[in-house]
Amino acid sequence: MPTIFTKIINGEIPCYKIAEDDDFFAFLDINPNAAGHTLCIPKKEVNKILDLDEATYMGLMAFSRKVGKAIEAAVPCERVGITVIGLEVPHVHVHLIPLHTMKNATFQYKEKLEPSAFEEIASKIRAALK
Ligand code: 5GP
Repeated sequence: MPTIFTKIINGEIPCYKIAEDDDFFAFLDINPNAAGHTLCIPKKEVNKILDLDEATYMGLMAFSRKVGKAIEAAVPCERVGITVIGLEVPHVHVHLIPLHTMKNATFQYKEKLEPSAFEEIASKIRAALK
């Protein structure tokens, strides 16, 4: 059974896409800690990050760094926090979270965004990637 994130990669579930290459995919988190909260995932379905082969792990970090720098350029924030949890979705994902205060890092405070706000922030991040 494919994970929900594999379904997103395959276009079976919609997302606000940020970037994609042969091995990795980035999209906005649907329940963000802050506007611009992005998930970076390997296309390979692996549950836990430490079980990734080293090349995929390093590739995911390089991909996340590129996306994180675009978020920093596009979204006003103190800095972009990087977190890996994975208790909800068993498909490796790196959370890139624009941090304004510590509450954005807690996963207890969530920001409600309209679809148009998701679209707008995704397009700003995509533009900063170019
Ligand atoms: P974790 O597994 O690291 O605890 O959290 C999973 C993250 O994936 C959560 O922040 C949650 O909001 C996000 N998420 C879960 N399902 C979907 C989905 O269908 N689409 C998107 N864009 N994000 C999702």
